[in-house]
Order: sequence, then structure tokens, then C-alpha cells
Amino acid sequence: MSHIAVDIGATNIRVASGNREGIEEKIAEVTDRSKGPEEIPRQIARMIRELTDAPDAIGAGSIGPIDLERGMITNTPNYPFKEIPVVEPLREEFGVPVKIVNDCTAGVLGEHVYGAGRGIGNLFYVTFSTGLGGGAIVDGHLLVGKDGNAVEVGHLTICPDSEMICGCGCPGHWEAYCSGLNIPRFAQTLLRRSEWRNSLLAVLCGGDARAITTEMMFDAAKQGDETALRIVDEVGRINAVGVADVVNAYDPELITIGGSVALNNPELIMTPIRRYVARHVINRLPEIMITPLGEDIVLYGALALALEAE
Ligand SMILES: [Zn+2]
Repeated sequence: MSHIAVDIGATNIRVASGNREGIEEKIAEVTDRSKGPEEIPRQIARMIRELTDAPDAIGAGSIGPIDLERGMITNTPNYPFKEIPVVEPLREEFGVPVKIVNDCTAGVLGEHVYGAGRGIGNLFYVTFSTGLGGGAIVDGHLLVGKDGNAVEVGHLTICPDSEMICGCGCPGHWEAYCSGLNIPRFAQTLLRRSEWRNSLLAVLCGGDARAITTEMMFDAAKQGDETALRIVDEVGRINAVGVADVVNAYDPELITIGGSVALNNPELIMTPIRRYVARHVINRLPEIMITPLGEDIVLYGALALALEAE
């Protein structure tokens, strides 16, 4: 018995084998984007064969947007391909059921089956990573949507007149301020209005705001730099608005938070959310915590999907 989980990320592909108890073995590779879109399922198939030649079923959690009906990734900003087929090539290769959902949908499913959300029927997962996204289980139902892209909370509008333009082209989306990719741009905007030349952040970036990285910003904040702490607080105030919107829209009992930005900086991400969320909320506040599944949460969700698919 070997069920296979696949996590298709912006830069890496991760594949794991496992069962109802959890993940048994996992491998990771940088995605090969040099040979066209068809190479991606071929790479996944080669990785699966490193773990088993006879999987029982395959589940995948993928960067979006996805086209659920055609089992493809479509128009993703992360790859230079219009369509990346996933389900059909793997089904042909192995002759077993293959299911795909977007990565945050997989995340909330993983939390529900293997993590802090076991037995909880109203559950939400938020990822703060290169991008920002969410997944929801409401009344025990996994929310998927017509194409598989329900719960795109990273693209909730925080401020319609904002100069912060999201990767999707719209002004003022949550992701435009708070994703790993966009925090440096938001920091630059804030620094334009303040005196920061004597800060540790200025030393770390050589006085050039355009050289600021998300990691640099959180490092300076961890060392107590007031400029960086002020930016972290501004990021946190917007995260609190986003999380409050989630509470008001989905009424979850538990929200878990993951993604590399949150997992690397749990206190700096969680403290302002906890401080500011209540002032934007009408529904009863849920418990909010960092996911215990860490960076494997999408793999866990993909594994749960494979177990359902059989
Ligand atoms: Zn957007």
C-alpha cells in the first residue's frame, strides 16, 4: 500500500509516500522549467518512481490558478507556461486515480486530517509565503469552487485606492502588502515617509531601500531595530484586517497559519494579528495558531486527497 502526495510549488516539486498514519518518505527537486510544460508531469512521474513503481492513488496540491475539470495549472504567474497538465499524464503513466486541488485547499485538508484541525468542522488555513492564500472547511465541507479556486483570500481588497499593486494587477490586495514577495515593496513605500538612515535596517541594506529583502527586514526586527519593528507592525495591522475578513466571512473555530514567512517569524507575524484582529471582527473570535504541520502541510493534504481518491 503506497499512496503518493505531490506538492507543486513556485520553485520546487516535493513528493511523498504515506498512509493514514502520515508521511513515510519524501523527496524534493527544483522544478525543471527548461523543457516546456510537459516536462513537469514527467519530472513528477520520475520522482514518484523513486519512491514506488506501483502507487495506489496520487493526490496533488498545486500553486494556482488550477482548472479542476481539465486537471491543469493555468496561467500561473510562477511559470512561463499557459497550461501545465498534471492529472492526465500521471493517470496514463500509473493507471491509478489522480486528484488535484490548489495548495491552500490541500493545506486545510491536511490540517483537518493530520494536524490541529482533527475533528473540527469549521477550519481555515492561511499561508504567508511567496504569495498569500487560504483554504476553508465550512460545516465539514472542503470549499473548492467551480474551477478549484475558491477562497483566494490573498486577493481580498484591503484598500481600493492603494499604490500597492498586486501581482494579479489589482490595487490594494492583501497579498500586495504582506506576501514574501511584496513585503519589501511595502517597506520601501513606508520608508519614503520616514527618517530611517540611522537604523539597523539601513545598515543591512547598505542604505538602499530597493535592496531590502523580507528576510533582512525580519532579521532587523528580531534584533530590536525600531524601523523594522514599525514595518512589521504595519504588515501585521494589514494581516489582522485580512484575518478578520476571514473570521467574518467563514466563521471558523480554528485558523492555522503557515508558509515560510510565518514559519520563520512566528512571533513577529502572530503578535500583531492577535493585537489588532478583534477591532475588525463581528463574529466570535476563533483560536489562531501556527500550523503544527510546518512546511509539510500541503504534502499532508495531498496525501489525504490520495487516500480519498482510491
Ligand atoms: Zn491580487
